[in-house]
Amino acid sequence: MMTAPPKTPIPVKPSYWHDIWDAIVTILKGMAVTIKNFGRVVFLRQATTITKKWGSRQIALRYRGTIGLTIDRRTGKENCIGCLACERICPDHCIHIETIDDKPGHKGKYPVVFVIDNNLCSLCGLCVEACPTPSLIHTELWQVGGYSHRDLVFDKRRLLEIGEWQQEKWIRMGLGTVDQVTGKKSMQMTDEEWQAEEEKKRAAAAARVQRAAAARQQAPARAQSSSGHGRTQPKDVSEEKSPAEA
Ligand code: SF4
Ligand code: SF4
Repeated sequence: MMTAPPKTPIPVKPSYWHDIWDAIVTILKGMAVTIKNFGRVVFLRQATTITKKWGSRQIALRYRGTIGLTIDRRTGKENCIGCLACERICPDHCIHIETIDDKPGHKGKYPVVFVIDNNLCSLCGLCVEACPTPSLIHTELWQVGGYSHRDLVFDKRRLLEIGEWQQEKWIRMGLGTVDQVTGKKSMQMTDEEWQAEEEKKRAAAAARVQRAAAARQQAPARAQSSSGHGRTQPKDVSEEKSPAEA
């Protein structure tokens, strides 16, 4: 036996005057909020929206804003060692680095070119994680704009400006230098430490050369002595009888 489909209740259509009343109440509610905030701003001087006039909100420390490059405060040298880990890991291919092998006083390779294209960067943070030094950081900077795409391509100078602005802020807030905030250790050395390490390397190289020369000198003597001991002495057969004599 077929059962009849359940009857859906027909919604009660509000009346025309009910609609008008609803609209008036809604407008009054909205105006109450506007008037309340107007009073707070004009009479109590309390900001409801944060504008430049009243400063800006405190950005959370973990906020992942525009990427910056940093300088080691102890040595005054750039933290980047040109390992290219960030360039390789970037999923958006927006980092471009060119390095030179030897810059006196700089540990590791020295990045002569370091560019981040912020048109492409998704602020994923992979480059910051992959960086073995405290060189790359997320900053609090979020107001990054420009009149053309070229304005958002940051070169090394701009990246260092941003990174140092952030490090300065951390120091002023009492959080410490970039090493302390990121927990990564800078590999850079002071000029004195660098000289001492170079001296050590030179001494080690000289010692190696001396050892090699000494080994070369000892080699013939060792060969002679080994030939004397190792070879079988010819047998003295003068006293042996011949088979015929026997
Ligand atoms: S945050 Fe992500 S997308 Fe931006 S540069 Fe770093 S790895 Fe590339
Ligand atoms: S920023 Fe960091 S990961 Fe990138 S090249 Fe420099 S040291 Fe390596």
